[in-house]
Amino acid sequence: MPVSDHLDIVGAELDFTHLDYAASAPCVRVAADAVRDLLPFYGSVHRGAGLRSQRSTLAYERARDVVAEFVGAREGDSVIFTRNTTDALNLLARALPAGTTTVVFDGEHHANLLPWPSPVRLAASADPVGAVREALSRVRGPALLAVTGASNVTGEIWPVRELADVAHAYGARVVVDAAQLAPHAPIDRGELGADYVAFSGHKLYAPFGAGVLAGRSDWLDAAEPYLRGGGASLAVGDAPGDVTWATGPARHEGGTPNLVGAVALAAVCEALLHADRAALDEHEQSLLAALPAGVTLFGGRRERVGIVSYAVPDPAGVADRLGREHAIGVRAGMFCAHPLVRKLGGGGSCDGGGLLRVSFGLGSTHDDIDYLLRALDELGVCV
Ligand code: PMP
Repeated sequence: MPVSDHLDIVGAELDFTHLDYAASAPCVRVAADAVRDLLPFYGSVHRGAGLRSQRSTLAYERARDVVAEFVGAREGDSVIFTRNTTDALNLLARALPAGTTTVVFDGEHHANLLPWPSPVRLAASADPVGAVREALSRVRGPALLAVTGASNVTGEIWPVRELADVAHAYGARVVVDAAQLAPHAPIDRGELGADYVAFSGHKLYAPFGAGVLAGRSDWLDAAEPYLRGGGASLAVGDAPGDVTWATGPARHEGGTPNLVGAVALAAVCEALLHADRAALDEHEQSLLAALPAGVTLFGGRRERVGIVSYAVPDPAGVADRLGREHAIGVRAGMFCAHPLVRKLGGGGSCDGGGLLRVSFGLGSTHDDIDYLLRALDELGVCV
């Protein structure tokens, strides 16, 4: 497989088959190395004059610069480190100017469905662009379209660029939930046409605990700080409420930041910026082609990332047996996308039914897919 050394998977030699990348991807070598190299100098960011603190501050701000490049940030954009995508989208939801109309599809992950205040909810359908045009033509005042880059259930890549062009024609802004797109394709905000992008380190081959919201700074700088506390405040007077808040990323990054998470995440971003992503994609597409198609929202008319879900009887039981009897890790259930999974025939409740999801990425091989298909066959599961 065409992966350079530093993008190899930590623990790849272990004797199990991980096909649940969409939940959390395994860590790559470059992230582990970045953490190992940082720990001897580990200290509090932006706080101290000592060598550890200075070096940590430099590492943190360098991580921000790398992430800015990864998302194709523009001059003056904010690149804010968050805990994960959920946190990033909630931050943006709190930063919306008063009276902003939000528009969202019902095919979203809950992280991009629930933070928005009273959204106009569109049915995910064969013509999402037309649906957005129709919805935005009736909106007055500021508006935000929140859309996923790639579905965590079907793996389908949404027509983000076309949606963004329509949104912009109506003066609306666009946030792309890139949690599932970022591990598989570039997420340059200019190319996507996004005003904001959000993603998570743990789905991008870095350890848990760091995510990103990046994009236009005006709403973010004008908003109430997301986390009130040290770091977010420049000066605090004696009277309650007498606070001068920081602008820029610090405004929303109150408290001691997750330096290790940010550095690991940025190390992966840097490696991916230099990787041959076309070759990685070609390999991923060949793995996809080896699998039955599974459920789709757009009827197979859109490109996909390495995520496929199947409507099978008792998906939880199948996932359990794959794990126990074959050491294969997949996921069963509603994938925090209840309306979408119901629409795709995956049952009606959170703990019953759902779908069986197979997802993969860097380090996945044809042997993994063959082994899964043989195991499903042995279990008598038809996908
Ligand atoms: N959006 C999508 C499309 C996702 O797949 C996920 C994670 N399953 C999220 C958002 C939320 O990511 P996190 O749990 O890292 O906040």
